[in-house]
Amino acid sequence: MPDGSAVVLGGSMAGLLTARVLSEFYGRVTVVERDELPTGSAQRRGVPQGRHLHALLARGGEVLDELLPGLTADIIAAGAPSGDLLGGVRWLLSGHRVRQADIGQPVLFPSRPLLEGQVRSRVRALPGVRVADGHDIVDLTASADRATVTGVRVRDAAGLVSTIPADLVVDATGRGSRTPTWLEDLGFSRPTADRVRTDVGYASRGYDMPDDALGTDQLILANWTRQHPRGAGIARQEDGRYIVTLVGMLGDHPPTDPDGFLDFAAGVPLPDVHRLISEGKPLDDPVAFRYPANIRHRYERLTRFPEGLLVLGDAMCSFNPVYGQGMTVAALQAAALRRHLADHRPPSWRRYFKSVARVIDAPWQIATGADLAFPGVQGHRSAKTRLVNAYLPHLHAAAVHDASLSAAFVRVTGLLDRPEGLLRPDRLFRVLRSALTR
Ligand SMILES: Cc1cc2nc3c(=O)[nH]c(=O)nc-3n(C[C@H](O)[C@H](O)[C@H](O)COP(=O)(O)OP(=O)(O)OC[C@H]3O[C@@H](n4cnc5c(N)ncnc54)[C@H](O)[C@@H]3O)c2cc1C
Repeated sequence: MPDGSAVVLGGSMAGLLTARVLSEFYGRVTVVERDELPTGSAQRRGVPQGRHLHALLARGGEVLDELLPGLTADIIAAGAPSGDLLGGVRWLLSGHRVRQADIGQPVLFPSRPLLEGQVRSRVRALPGVRVADGHDIVDLTASADRATVTGVRVRDAAGLVSTIPADLVVDATGRGSRTPTWLEDLGFSRPTADRVRTDVGYASRGYDMPDDALGTDQLILANWTRQHPRGAGIARQEDGRYIVTLVGMLGDHPPTDPDGFLDFAAGVPLPDVHRLISEGKPLDDPVAFRYPANIRHRYERLTRFPEGLLVLGDAMCSFNPVYGQGMTVAALQAAALRRHLADHRPPSWRRYFKSVARVIDAPWQIATGADLAFPGVQGHRSAKTRLVNAYLPHLHAAAVHDASLSAAFVRVTGLLDRPEGLLRPDRLFRVLRSALTR
């Protein structure tokens, strides 16, 4: 039987997956969450992004099944559409509708509340796990010399403050994480942070559409391009309604009034989007979300850090949501924590942050590299970033007729393969041959 106790701050995707991992190594695991958590799947205040289209990347589904066996099968049984990563998704990339073909890589398209609800009910049922919902985190407690975090102070709905002692505290409170401030309070330095500002705006609306509105596809993903910096996603959800999410960057945000929403959709470079929502019946009002910047906190570069504290999920790194990476990277970080704890008890913050940094490197490169293709996005463009951004539109153009190139690209964005593979000589040759033919 494992012994000791751990506390997870935040009960969203990163916090729940962390609790799942910690329950293997600690006898008592408490998840502290400000919201009163629903028993089933429902929208909640602490996760406002749940009202917008959420794609679970292919790699994310695999890791979730490793941590919670049978999860994706249960989600499909609960009605979530599923299909092939290339055969079931209508991708518009650099303005090109790339060739679709089944590649044997399954993906599922649950709503965010369904996915989180299923993860939550499984984690809640784990032995030793307790969820203290309806509790606000006040601050950390520390040893007299302030070198070790010893627990967390929380406030319940009645305003009563109490302390939960713990051998390990993991911060999974998302983008608003206060660990940098707590570090200063304890006499440590804040981590530096890399930021790539994109000023992304989301607006989403539910629609009633015919069952076959998307044909044999389960998802439409129209990515923005330099020429058309507007994108859209449309998917059917488990309750039968369709969710339409429109996105724009650098201040070009989709409006939330119904006419403005429709007008904005006309600027998305895939006409299917405007047509489908013109023909659909709206079920609610559009809701908006604003996302200013990709942020990566560089905890792995710190030379001093308290014992008994770790950070995971968006609290460590949050990505432009358009690339759909956040939940998958949180799952990959939880898997890295699991490997770390198998070798190190108590955990070594230095080694943990270094291993998680390796997990984040590729998705960070994919998201910020793609954002830096837009001249209005400020940031350092390495020679590699410029080369890749010049090359990808050619690869996408070639992928209109060459499903092996579409497959290679969507496997990279699904975090199944490393981005470097797109520059393999045989793929370069296919892209060049296609460019010359055109
Ligand atoms: C518009 C949008 C669309 C997105 N689309 C996708 C997508 O398609 N695919 C994908 O994989 N990811 C997507 N993401 C990212 C994804 O939602 C996150 O990466 C994911 O939820 C993991 O985040 P997290 O658990 O670290 O933090 P969060 O989900 O932000 O959760 C933080 C939790 O901490 C709790 N909390 C915060 N402060 C306190 C406090 N003081 N006391 C107690 N509790 C507290 C909150 O209530 C919340 O439950 C999207 C994000 C946005 C904004």
